Amino acid sequence: MDNQPGASGLIFNEPSLWEKSRKGRCAISLPKADVERAELDKDLTGDAPELPQLSELDVVRHYTRLSQWNFGVDSGMYPLGSCTMKYNPKTNEVQAALKGFAGAHPFSGDEFSQGSLKLMYNLEQYLAKITGFDTLTLQPAAGAHGELTGMLMIHAYFAKKGKQRSKIIIPDTAHGTNPASAALCGYIPVNIKSGEKGILDPETVAAVMDEDTAGIMVTNPNTLGLFESNISKIADIIHSKGGLVYGDGANMNAIMGIVKPGEIGIDVLHLNLHKTFSTPHGGGGPGSGPVAVGKALEPFLPVPRVVKDLDSYKLVSDYPDTIGKIHTFYGHFGIMVRAYAYILSMGAKGLLDSSRLAVLSANYIKESLKGTLNLPYDMPCMHECVFNDEFQSKNNVTTVDMAKRLLDYGFHPPTIYFPLVVHGAFMIEPTETESKEDIDQFIDAVKAIAREAEEDPEKLRKAPFLTKVTRLDEVTAARKPCLRG
Ligand SMILES: *Cc1c(COP(=O)(O)O)cnc(C)c1O
Repeated sequence: MDNQPGASGLIFNEPSLWEKSRKGRCAISLPKADVERAELDKDLTGDAPELPQLSELDVVRHYTRLSQWNFGVDSGMYPLGSCTMKYNPKTNEVQAALKGFAGAHPFSGDEFSQGSLKLMYNLEQYLAKITGFDTLTLQPAAGAHGELTGMLMIHAYFAKKGKQRSKIIIPDTAHGTNPASAALCGYIPVNIKSGEKGILDPETVAAVMDEDTAGIMVTNPNTLGLFESNISKIADIIHSKGGLVYGDGANMNAIMGIVKPGEIGIDVLHLNLHKTFSTPHGGGGPGSGPVAVGKALEPFLPVPRVVKDLDSYKLVSDYPDTIGKIHTFYGHFGIMVRAYAYILSMGAKGLLDSSRLAVLSANYIKESLKGTLNLPYDMPCMHECVFNDEFQSKNNVTTVDMAKRLLDYGFHPPTIYFPLVVHGAFMIEPTETESKEDIDQFIDAVKAIAREAEEDPEKLRKAPFLTKVTRLDEVTAARKPCLRG
């Protein structure tokens, strides 16, 4: 165990502040009073609250230890497939905290918000350029919210034409939010299967596309980490029946500077700034899911829109066909600042290189672990690769056992049991920010676990051992969380 790759875990037990409290301890020292002591009027203040009594060091250690129970990109590799948990350069945080941005108030009015509006306008231009679209909205607060916005625009498009459609095609490799967003807009999702190679066959799409179908939602690269190389043919089939193509661009991290979705037949696409454009995410914090559109959907964009008027910028809401507002004000501005800082600091070449590196890292893992874990779709992948537990299942070791054991080696586990098309999926997305040394450690850890699955499967089924809590009953843990240390 001494030389195992990864970490061996040093985790303190930590009682609550009330349990640590000792009468008379105090973390503050106030200057000597220079006025006379006076009793407070008990009728007004009531009894003093029972606060824990602690020294400064007690408090510092308490919160530092609690912070160490958490795991984030800053503490280790986080290869969670479909989530792009890349490292977020700290300069983005510094820019977002600049007083002019952090203190900007949405009621300041256009005249006093020129810098913020210019940033939003420029960010729109950059994202339009990266994706190959005419224009976009920054308003949606997450990827799924972007999907809803896109579907509302498609709905408005058919409403304007005077003939609403009832269905939408969704492949089995789509992200789970896609059918949910379509259904929220009243469309009936029509599921279709991918072909043998894990990507869509145009014939499968042609067989179900008709004039009562609004279009298709394609995640590209798809959730198997594969590029839908028939996308242009598929778009032609959809367009020939008057439908529209929705592109889920949350996986744009694999194709920046390489593929422009707006130029290969996609009509509307959302991005996840909190994945591809390097802003922290996870734990339900604020996100941003801009939606880019071509000419057909532009009139339906949410309002207000940022408009450049000579050298000044303004928010304009006067668009008769707009779907209206989908967020208060104009979305999560702080995330936009981070994404803008990221794009500027990377430059076009930097973004291209980061996509290439993300793809290289995933393929390196795929090739290195191929004989260790079963690889259901053995072809070049994009930014993530999907294995499963077929080899280990003969010893009754499953994906979840291996994922739990990875915690003992100091790695956040990959995404498991998703995508649903792969039984027992183990989906790894290293991102471009992990070094080869760290990726090699991860590969060594997975190989070591695969050996354990052969030699001591019984033990593996009880993992993890070095974490603060060991194997949890996850259903009970979710239903009755224990929030004490
Ligand atoms: C993450 C993701 C989404 C959803 O994005 P949220 O910001 O979590 O709502 C949608 N599609 C794909 C392919 C994703 O990876």
